[in-house]
Amino acid sequence: MNKYLENVLEKTKNKNSNEPEFIQAVTEVLTSIEPVIVAHKEYEQLALLERIIEPERIITFRVPWVDDNGQVQVNRGYRVQYSSLIGPYKGGLRFHPSVNQSIMKFLGFEQIFKNALSGLPIGGAKGGCDFDPKGKSDSEVMRFCQSFMTELYRHIGADIDVPAGDIGVGAREIGYLFGQYKRIKNGYEGGVLTGKAVSYGGSLARTEATGYGLIYYMREMLKANNNQSFNGKKVTISGSGNVAIYACQKAQQYGAKVIAMSDSNGCIYDKNGIDLDLIKQIKEVERGRIKEYLREHKDAEYIETIDRNDAPIWTIPTDIALPCATQNELSLTSATKLVNHGVIAVGEGANMPTEAKAIEYLQTNDVLFAPAKAANAGGVSTSAIEMSQNSMRYYYSFEEVDKRLEQIMINIFKACEESAEKYGCSGNYAAGANIAAFRKIAKAMKAQGIV
Ligand code: NDP
Repeated sequence: MNKYLENVLEKTKNKNSNEPEFIQAVTEVLTSIEPVIVAHKEYEQLALLERIIEPERIITFRVPWVDDNGQVQVNRGYRVQYSSLIGPYKGGLRFHPSVNQSIMKFLGFEQIFKNALSGLPIGGAKGGCDFDPKGKSDSEVMRFCQSFMTELYRHIGADIDVPAGDIGVGAREIGYLFGQYKRIKNGYEGGVLTGKAVSYGGSLARTEATGYGLIYYMREMLKANNNQSFNGKKVTISGSGNVAIYACQKAQQYGAKVIAMSDSNGCIYDKNGIDLDLIKQIKEVERGRIKEYLREHKDAEYIETIDRNDAPIWTIPTDIALPCATQNELSLTSATKLVNHGVIAVGEGANMPTEAKAIEYLQTNDVLFAPAKAANAGGVSTSAIEMSQNSMRYYYSFEEVDKRLEQIMINIFKACEESAEKYGCSGNYAAGANIAAFRKIAKAMKAQGIV
């Protein structure tokens, strides 16, 4: 490895030794941009990599709230304002008990690259809290969101930092957060949050965007490789949240047979094809467990997750696997099983769902691999379209937004393909995505001086 890259990586590991997810994300990027670093000797003197790796700002704060029993609870909130090079900080909020600084930094770091790839004027950020919305009443979630925003509001704004949803943060949470922001600020600043409901400034097609975008990207990747398509292919999709549900919907529209989906407890396998209306009812309306699927489909199978390192969904033979749940959910063990069963493509709907060793294994076994920062960029891209609609005080139709989203995903795929080809790693779309995004970021950094 190039000496400069090696030194930066070493320093990053030493300085952040208790942040494994963050180190994983940085390592993945640094190891694939070597040809660009070699071609630009000046980057070392400018400490370009060191500056990209260090967040502009990290905010952590106390979130006290009162539960339904009158007991005071305290959670820890975060906002990592990573990079404002290309536009206002932009990235989702995650409410999940696993949230910590390492996870916030890995997500924020990835977001800089994803947002650069989108071609839209948005910087990179991430935030969230170790609060678990699961099993909480609506009033508890509201009180929590109000407390969270009472601190966060002073750090955000339509031209400063624009949060959105992520795991555990959907339309309900965004609504409560927005209501509290508006109340504190005494003004209607629609563009301060995205993922809003359409009734008060949200964008049509934002709910569908990440899942649809993933399938548009996959469609382009399949087409570019022997003119393949979704039609008639078996597909397995992990998770059953926002990304998974709409990936399933678009894949089904393209003639694929989705045979399995999951949640954090286990997966359902329905060889007749997933009944998506039922999944939506269980997950979006009832907020229940995926196991409930069996109540209407007695011949489907439920397999409980015992070992996360060998998640049952990846043991089911499939043509296309779409990890859409969480980080590091597809291990080397799982990748081996997928390859043995003849998988042809893996597309990351979640952020960093595939372990580094698993990616390497898939690629050396000629499995087409669509990396998260490119393949799931449809969500944030549509958030940026929501921001522009808010600025214009205007709405686009569902079809207009969907068309723009589709074109953005086509452009992102082309950028990954061309960069991989130009820098000698043809077909490696993960390297292509990192290189294309890094080149754009590096140019902006050089132009803006030492800041
Ligand atoms: P949701 O909260 O809507 O859904 C998450 C889903 O993943 C739930 O079904 C959850 O199950 C499941 N899950 C969580 N952990 C595991 C696990 N270990 N194994 C299996 N399933 C699990 O989140 P989203 O769909 O919004 O986000 C999913 C991923 O996509 C995340 O990585 C997120 O960062 C990424 N992403 C999301 C975007 C968006 O627009 N929403 C944009 C870009 C990326 P359970 O109900 O049991 O918790």
